[in-house]
Order: sequence, then structure tokens, then C-alpha cells
Amino acid sequence: MSKVIVVGGGPSGMMAALTASKNNHEVILIERNNELGKKLKLTGGGRCNVTNKRNIEDFFDKVVTNKKFLYSAFYSFTNEDLLSFLTESNLEYKVEEHNDYKVYTKSDKAVELINTFKELLLNNNIKILYNSKVVDLVINENNKIEGVVLENNTKVLGDKVIISTGGKSHSKTGSDGTMHEILKRYRHTVTNTYPALSPLKIKEDWTRRLQGISLKDVEISCKIKKKKISKRGDMLFAHFGITGPCVLIISSYINKVLESEDVELNIDFIPDISGDELRKAIRENPNKNIVNNLKHILPQNFIKEILDVLGLSDTKPNELTKENENKIVEYFKNMKLTTHDTLGIQVSMVTSGGISVKEINSSTMESKLIENLYFTGEIIDVDAETGGYNLQIAFSTGYLAGDSLQL
Ligand SMILES: Cc1cc2nc3c(=O)[nH]c(=O)nc-3n(C[C@H](O)[C@H](O)[C@H](O)COP(=O)(O)OP(=O)(O)OC[C@H]3O[C@@H](n4cnc5c(N)ncnc54)[C@H](O)[C@@H]3O)c2cc1C
Repeated sequence: MSKVIVVGGGPSGMMAALTASKNNHEVILIERNNELGKKLKLTGGGRCNVTNKRNIEDFFDKVVTNKKFLYSAFYSFTNEDLLSFLTESNLEYKVEEHNDYKVYTKSDKAVELINTFKELLLNNNIKILYNSKVVDLVINENNKIEGVVLENNTKVLGDKVIISTGGKSHSKTGSDGTMHEILKRYRHTVTNTYPALSPLKIKEDWTRRLQGISLKDVEISCKIKKKKISKRGDMLFAHFGITGPCVLIISSYINKVLESEDVELNIDFIPDISGDELRKAIRENPNKNIVNNLKHILPQNFIKEILDVLGLSDTKPNELTKENENKIVEYFKNMKLTTHDTLGIQVSMVTSGGISVKEINSSTMESKLIENLYFTGEIIDVDAETGGYNLQIAFSTGYLAGDSLQL
């Protein structure tokens, strides 16, 4: 039996602790907050999108950064394994097929998942140290980790240490990147960090008048290094720019580029309706107004605002010139907006960047630089789209680390 220290009581740390304990290790879980899973509580708008019901093979397409690194982790503990684990732990879940196959707690309460984990940790005799911030590591002259140092200078010694301290977003939850700095001191490379799954600021001031308007199933496209990226989903205009699931996903693909240049976004608000179909709809009832003709395909307030921007509010379809018809089609089928920044790491859902995957053994999650040191979850340089994939990364890497420790 080894003595295992897990630093960080988020989803990946709790899963690592539990798995290590089931493998007969003595486990201590160290958490700086006075509660476990403070970020987990916020997930899925408080109802926790715990994973996704798609085939595990499809998960790789949803990983934005370093998908190959996650191969062993995803197959060691798949989404189906996670769902079986929830069932065995008496936590009911539901699959929202209409909502991109996202899986939520049946009660719509993330806190139930946290309570389930807490109970399992206690039943497995895992010692939890709350209010204990780790500020340093104990590493011997042979480059083996021997424990961690707490803020009050106490040393907690062990045979293996698993670092599960998360990324940098929503730092009030406890994941603030302090561990990135500690690991840099011990030669680990931390790749540049960027906000991922973040709302986007938009340069065109006129879009402020669209604030509060939400659109269903739009297609946002852009070109990054000559490669076209195109994503579909819902979006919302806000006072700073745009947000909503589709925007958040796009942000994860353009965050690095935004550091040095603006990105042009092309938005198709009706991707299933062709330009010609739209032209026909605009002129359907020639004597009625355009809003009336289009209200079955787009929200009325959106049509009104765009026609106002184009100075066409009072124009009847039979008075509409070809040139102005083209303008309407352009705004609804290919609106060009410029983003110059994300809304920042604090509001982003995940952090892109972290401990370089080149320095972690992907079959065990062990550091290649320091013996007996392991990493799980968002501290690693991996991130994924929305849909439950980031939590699955946390659970899969947590499981793999906890399962890879030798006695
Ligand atoms: C608003 C929001 C909604 C989200 N919704 C979803 C969703 O629905 N589905 C999904 O898949 N993903 C979602 N995510 C992402 C997901 O929550 C994270 O990817 C996941 O929590 C990462 O787990 P982790 O265990 O690696 O890190 P964290 O959950 O960040 O946990 C790290 C823990 O380590 C502790 N810690 C940090 N430093 C120290 C230290 N020095 N000493 C001791 N303890 C320390 C922290 O207090 C924290 O409890 C969401 C994120 C946010 C912010």
C-alpha cells in the first residue's frame, strides 16, 4: 500500500482519490476551500452536464487541444464507464437527446454529484484536509516527489502525489493557476494559457442595439491559418458582443490568434434556408411588410433591428431594389462581425494551456520529469468544446492516474 496525496478536490481529484483508494492505497485529499467541487457546482448552469452520450470515438472531434494525448484516458474510463459509475453510486442521470446528447444529473442539481462523491470518499476512508492550500512540493535529490507543503508550512509526506488543481478560469472557485507557477519552479513547462469557451467582444458598435436578442441554431464560420472553422448552435447578442454555446465553441479555436490579430466571423442565421429561398420569402406577400414575410424564419425583433440598420424599415417588398434585397440576404446569411478579444479568463469556462503534454506519460498521467508525480484534469494542456467533454476529461484522467499507481 502506498500513501497517495491528491491535491485539489474538483472532479478530477475526487475521481483520482477514489480510484487510488479502491486500489488499496491510503489516500489524503487536500483542498484549499472549505468545500469540495466549488467549480463543479457551477457546471451546466448549476445542473451539471456531466458527460455526453455520443460514442467515445466521437469525443476526439470535440477536443480542441491535444486530442491524441487523451486516447488512453478516454478508453480507460469512457463516458459509459462514468454512467455505470453514477448508477452504481445511486445517482440518477438523464440524457437530453434533443440537446446534443448532453447528460445531466436527473435532479438538475450539480450539488448532488458533489454530495455523492463526498459520501464515497468518506466511505472509502479517504482523509480530506479542507482549508489547506498547497504552496510547494517536496522533491528529493533523486528527482522523486515525497510530499507537499501547506500554506502554514506543514509538510504532508507521501509516496505518490497527484496534482488536480485545475485551470485559471473563475478563480474564486479556487483554481487560480498558483500550481502552474510552483511546477514551473521544478522545470515543468506550462504552455501559454488562454481563455477557452469564452464570450467574444465585437468591434462593430451598431450590434449593441441587438443586445438581448437570441438566435437558435446559427452557423458561425471563420478562417484560421487558411483553415475554415464552422460551428453550429445557439447564440446571443450582448452589450459587449456575442455569447451562447456556438460562440463559446468558436472562441476555443480562435483564442490564440486573437492575441495578435482580429478575426472576421461570418454568421449565417438561417443555415438551413438558402439565399434563393430567403429572397423568395422576402417578396412572398409583395404588399405586406418584410418583417411579416420573414417572421416565420427569424425572430421579429431581430428582423426589425436589421431592417432599421439598413434603412429599410418602411420599404414594402414591391418597392425593394435588387441591391437592397442583396443587403438583407447578406445580413441574414453572411453577417460579417469582427472580434478582437475574448471576454477574458475570469469568465471563460475552461483554460486552454497548462502542463505540457510532452512531459506527461499519456498511459499513466505520470510526470516524465519527476518520479511519482501525476497530473489530472484541467491543469493539463487539454481542452474541449461544450457538451460535457471537459468533465469527461477530468473524470477519465483522474481515473487513469488513480489506477496507474503501483503498490
Ligand atoms: C461556469 C462553468 C460551467 C462549466 N460547465 C461545464 C459543464 O457543464 N460540463 C463540462 O464538461 N465542463 C464544464 N465546465 C468545465 C469544468 O468545470 C472543468 O473543466 C472541471 O471542473 C475541471 O476539473 P478539475 O478537477 O481539473 O479542476 P477544478 O474543478 O478546477 O478543481 C480544482 C480544485 O483544486 C483546488 N486547488 C487549486 N489550487 C490548489 C492548491 N494550491 N492547494 C489545494 N487545492 C487547490 C481548487 O480549489 C479546486 O477545488 C464548466 C466550467 C465553468 C467555470
